[in-house]
Amino acid sequence: MLAVLVAVTFLLSLNAALHPRPHELPSTTTPHCKASSRSAVMGTVTSSSCDEVLATRVQQALDEAVAAVSNTLDIGRGGVSWSRRVDVVIPSSDAELVSLVGPAFKDMAGIAIRDGAAQRVVLNRERATPLSDLELGVLLRHEITHVATRDQTSDSAPLWLVEGFADWVAFHETGLPLREAAPLLTADVTGLPADFTGPGRDLAYQQAYSVMVYLQSRLGDRGVVEFFLKNASLSAVDARAIDVAGWREFLRATIG
Ligand SMILES: [Zn+2]
Repeated sequence: MLAVLVAVTFLLSLNAALHPRPHELPSTTTPHCKASSRSAVMGTVTSSSCDEVLATRVQQALDEAVAAVSNTLDIGRGGVSWSRRVDVVIPSSDAELVSLVGPAFKDMAGIAIRDGAAQRVVLNRERATPLSDLELGVLLRHEITHVATRDQTSDSAPLWLVEGFADWVAFHETGLPLREAAPLLTADVTGLPADFTGPGRDLAYQQAYSVMVYLQSRLGDRGVVEFFLKNASLSAVDARAIDVAGWREFLRATIG
């Protein structure tokens, strides 16, 4: 089973309540090393952890991840205009992580945040460290997709669309079959996933991903990118945008 399961991630639009408040941090016994920043061609990795292994792995994977996301988004007509650079932050402790992303997201492996005009990807060191190279690549591409498409995504865009598309870009060209990328998935779906918190979260992400794979079977790669770009910017997505019965049939035929 692919451990990307733990790599659930979230699009986070920072509001004032979540802004970093370092002076309020509780004391922590976690060793805190001076923040070190390392550069890739297409971004930076800043780590305040004494453990440099993860930062080095992210630095080595970053350029390829940014390029892969750009290439996939460019399949759509006109592509997506974005900076094609990403800054990744790896906090050293839970407290520092919470100060950046808020308490609700501290168990996510990665979080894309917008803090004023700046966008960053924050990684949860404990969750990201055990990931294989394949899984770390999926995680990075997922979060980078959020960053790349943030300006095209309305705050009210449904999560099945936003998260499903980020996973679709992340898994694109990995060659992983749906069953492996989404091991919790069953074919008995009755509606689009809406609850991306709580105990059903992992399944919701995998259902959302499978919606995009279903669309890919109907519309092709370019069709998926253009479906996302067309709908993500709307304040409300037409409930009929996805034929749920067709999706269910696709799942039955694909994963049984
Ligand atoms: Zn996400």
